[in-house]
Amino acid sequence: MKVHNRVPAMPHDHHDHDNHLDPMDARVRALETILVQKGLVDPAAVDAIIETYAHKVGPQNGAAVVARAWSEPAFADWLARDATAAVGAMGFTGRQGEHVKAVFNAPGLHHVIVCTLCSCYPWSLLGLPPVWYKSPAYRSRVVIEPRAVLAEFGLVLPEATQLRVWDSTAELRYLVVPMRPEGTEGWTPEQLAELVTRESMIGTGLARVPA
Ligand code: FE
Repeated sequence: MKVHNRVPAMPHDHHDHDNHLDPMDARVRALETILVQKGLVDPAAVDAIIETYAHKVGPQNGAAVVARAWSEPAFADWLARDATAAVGAMGFTGRQGEHVKAVFNAPGLHHVIVCTLCSCYPWSLLGLPPVWYKSPAYRSRVVIEPRAVLAEFGLVLPEATQLRVWDSTAELRYLVVPMRPEGTEGWTPEQLAELVTRESMIGTGLARVPA
């Protein structure tokens, strides 16, 4: 099985009345209908959560953290020691991001995150996880053959680079801090944040190189 490395589309609006539902969508809608009918779930609350994580919380939060760590050594130290507090100080705490550990890439060392059990992911920093992150193929293969999986994402690292794969849990989620690209001396944090991709903070990619 291959891990799909295309950036997947966001889940479509779940009030879209699409006549061509795939079986998973149909099951999700049936389940939501039952939960709403039984009064267990308020559809407005579900919509608010989806709206928040689809549009308001996303990889731009993690990118701001990384850019600040690149810009302020004291912040980088704090992030390394206590990421939960450091990202909390920037306002990025909340559901699925209560406890965070930041792992820093360095020359010869590259970190990758996964949740082998399910799909734990730092929502408050990266938004909703991409579809491939939740796929059985990614979850099982990245721990067994990380180099091959990264190559499928277009990321080929030197043989001498050590790979560390971190298995997220409901208790602790990880943020990869990619290496700062060369040629960015004097850049503002806002400019630097533009280089920080979601994949670079999962470890399936690197930060963008300035044009
Ligand atoms: Fe999980």
